[in-house]
Amino acid sequence: MHQTEKGLCSSCGLCSIQAWPVEESITSCVFKNGWLGERERKLFGRERSFDDPVEMRFGITAERFTAQLKNPVSESQWSGIITRIAMRALEEKLVEGVVSLHRSTDNVFFSIPVLARNSDEVYATRGNKPVLSPVLQSLQNAYRLGMKKILVIGAACHLHTLRDFQERFAYLKDMEVLTIGIPCVDNVARSQWPWILKRMTQSPGTARHMEFMQDFRIHIRHEDGHVEKIPFFSLPEELSNPGIFPAACMSCFDYLNSLADITVGYIGAELLPDKKRQWILVRTDTGKRLLKLIEHELDRFPESGRWECSSFIKNTSSRIIESMKNVNKAYSTKRRIPVAAGHILAGVLGMIGPKGIGFAHYSVDFHLIRHYYYVKFRNTDRLKKLVPRHVPVILAEYGLPL
Ligand SMILES: Cc1cc2nc3c(=O)[nH]c(=O)nc-3n(C[C@H](O)[C@H](O)[C@H](O)COP(=O)(O)OP(=O)(O)OC[C@H]3O[C@@H](n4cnc5c(N)ncnc54)[C@H](O)[C@@H]3O)c2cc1C
Ligand code: SF4
Ligand code: SF4
Repeated sequence: MHQTEKGLCSSCGLCSIQAWPVEESITSCVFKNGWLGERERKLFGRERSFDDPVEMRFGITAERFTAQLKNPVSESQWSGIITRIAMRALEEKLVEGVVSLHRSTDNVFFSIPVLARNSDEVYATRGNKPVLSPVLQSLQNAYRLGMKKILVIGAACHLHTLRDFQERFAYLKDMEVLTIGIPCVDNVARSQWPWILKRMTQSPGTARHMEFMQDFRIHIRHEDGHVEKIPFFSLPEELSNPGIFPAACMSCFDYLNSLADITVGYIGAELLPDKKRQWILVRTDTGKRLLKLIEHELDRFPESGRWECSSFIKNTSSRIIESMKNVNKAYSTKRRIPVAAGHILAGVLGMIGPKGIGFAHYSVDFHLIRHYYYVKFRNTDRLKKLVPRHVPVILAEYGLPL
């Protein structure tokens, strides 16, 4: 693994490419250049408005709504909107290849980088691989094949680094690169994943699908189809140790992938029984073109939920700051509260807590506060470089110190 001078690296895959010098790849690393700022200005002609509380959290958008595919793609993460857009983009010859991930045959949660060139290969990219993944490695194949139009599906670190590299160096200058972004947070290193999964579920060997849900529970689907639900509050305390996450992901300030042409997530959609509603943030004209490919396949709904969530943030912020500060804190192996009590608490919060865009607001602010103090207390000299300018504005809203 190549790393920037402070050891921050999300294994995005660019430095594994041999078609150009690794020193050039590192020059474009988001952990060297920082999040948003100039890159956002280059893409949109301006930075997000600090006077607009919604844009500060969700980034610049042309349109936002919730939606579900009328015919969900089986074994996709939610309803499979990303997979369908990518398949249609290839069918319509909008692109010649799709840079994404296949599942590893050794572990369903692990990824292998791929340049998918036909519908079957794109179909096989569906579903999350909740580990750091070298998506950008496949740029090398596209470059060597002389492709002129590609689609890249990636997390925010992938798309920041890719956009910088394409602008800075000649290699990809003539390539039209379309992008679909996933929201991404709390990702983990492969070496750490078995340890984490074992502490989340009683049966790690049969787990096939995992998601942190808006009902304050982790849902783990097992190979026999049953879904195990564990309240966040009942996970072992050791899973809240910031040390188990990659330093790169704890220094990440673009949860909602603001440089993607279109971001497709779920966190701002309300969780409804037996539905797989997703949250779409269309950001650029290219994003509009990508959405148009599957517009007729979607059931669309307006965003819902109340924006306000400050009491929930205020209740947790001092605990977050303390745990980021206390580098030597010992974490217990015990559950924070018993599972039955956790379900009651999750049920109450499900009724009175934030929903829809309020939940997205809460989740963005929670992670932004956590990451600000992580960098402040554990990597102080990177604070200025890494932290985008809207972050102090949001901290000030809650009266939190810089
Ligand atoms: C670690 C992680 C954390 C996430 N956290 C959130 C969250 O907090 N809120 C939220 O709204 N959404 C989050 N997502 C995204 C969300 O789970 C779905 O991937 C997204 O909503 C798309 O659903 P879909 O059914 O359209 O995806 P699908 O059609 O199944 O397509 C998913 C696409 O994402 C790609 N992909 C999978 N894993 C990775 C990875 N590790 N890196 C890069 N690309 C990958 C797949 O290869 C595929 O192309 C997260 C995803 C990951 C991997
Ligand atoms: S995150 Fe990507 S660009 Fe940065 S050091 Fe790691 S592999 Fe290289
Ligand atoms: S949390 Fe951030 S740094 Fe980590 S993989 Fe996701 S986008 Fe990249």
